[in-house]
Amino acid sequence: MKVGPGGRILIGMLAGVVLGAVLGERVAAIQPLGDLFITLLVLVAAPLVFFNLLAGLTSLADLRTLGRLAGKTVGFFLTTELVALSLGLGAMALLRPGAGLRLTETVTETAPETVSGAVGEAPSAADVLLDMIPTNVVRAFAEGNVVQIVILALMLGIATMALGDGPRARLATLFEDLAGLFRRLVHMVLWVAPVGIGALVAVTVGRYGADLIGPTARFLAGVWGAQIVIVTGYMLLLRFFSDYRPARFLRATGSLWATTAATTSSLASLSVGLETAGRLDLPRRVYSFVLPLGAQLNKDGTSVMLAAVLLFTAQAAGVTFSPADFVTILLLGMLLSHGTGGVPGGGFVVALIYVQALNLPIEVAAIVGGIYRLVDMSNTTVNIMGDMVGAALVARSEARRA
Ligand code: ASP
Repeated sequence: MKVGPGGRILIGMLAGVVLGAVLGERVAAIQPLGDLFITLLVLVAAPLVFFNLLAGLTSLADLRTLGRLAGKTVGFFLTTELVALSLGLGAMALLRPGAGLRLTETVTETAPETVSGAVGEAPSAADVLLDMIPTNVVRAFAEGNVVQIVILALMLGIATMALGDGPRARLATLFEDLAGLFRRLVHMVLWVAPVGIGALVAVTVGRYGADLIGPTARFLAGVWGAQIVIVTGYMLLLRFFSDYRPARFLRATGSLWATTAATTSSLASLSVGLETAGRLDLPRRVYSFVLPLGAQLNKDGTSVMLAAVLLFTAQAAGVTFSPADFVTILLLGMLLSHGTGGVPGGGFVVALIYVQALNLPIEVAAIVGGIYRLVDMSNTTVNIMGDMVGAALVARSEARRA
């Protein structure tokens, strides 16, 4: 029997679960195999995004189409994020995991995994917007800043459209060929996916298998519960407002969810997302725009977690919020969720900034660091699923106009 790429990844994951369960924490020795996979994916992400988007843009009819695409995309991102934050708050209000914590004990008992000394400040809206503009072409690529790369590609795409017919056609062919080259590279990287994903799964099982008890378990149940509600919402949106039936969509995108959960990086998963969207036959001019922007800006899974960490901390500290506070909480959450950088653990640092900005004890929030990898797996998966669903919805509404 011939096993397809999805089947090979599944076998890799199962082998990882067994290895992790048998070897426990010793399995950490194979972490470099997982890191190699992530590194290769991140390596191809920046040029892939850049040339895919340029190739997609030069096939657009005019600037008005681009403006419409951008409007729909950002509208979808903002709406779903607001829903996600509210769901995160709702889940914690329901389960109240923080109320069971006795502050002094837990804070000293639980060693947080990744709290850094300097947590930083919450940025202003102007900072967030200005940071989207690259000050230097090379730096945007060197830092792998996807939003800046998207803005650069947009500017160059618009400039290309304004050129005369000859150079425009030549550049369009060049962009198309280069996009094809980097897509080919992704296919090659995906050959090592079963081993890379298997190694990452093994390390997670080995490290966290025994960790799931007490308030953190309830916290996790709340976050996962709210995220399942969001995924159900996505499936309903797909069912009624796209050309994809949920079952077909999930079947065709399985390898992508294995990648998001194993790498816990939106940035690393972007290359696989673009490849998957191509296989789903989504129009390139739509997905090459929606997916990279979403990977950096649309963070529904992370938003659930941010709201949940905040309320969890407030419950443990015995703080209650007024209705006006909730407006601040939602607005700040929307602003902050964009700052995760699409890297493993990125959302955790942001959660600490969020908690600090609202004057809550950061040490309590840091407890979540102990199990953050488990939260990050679902965060990243829901983050990317939101982008894919957004692309499918925008594609359908664009097709309707045609
Ligand atoms: N790692 C996640 C991402 O890449 C963000 C998070 O930590 O929530 O999207």
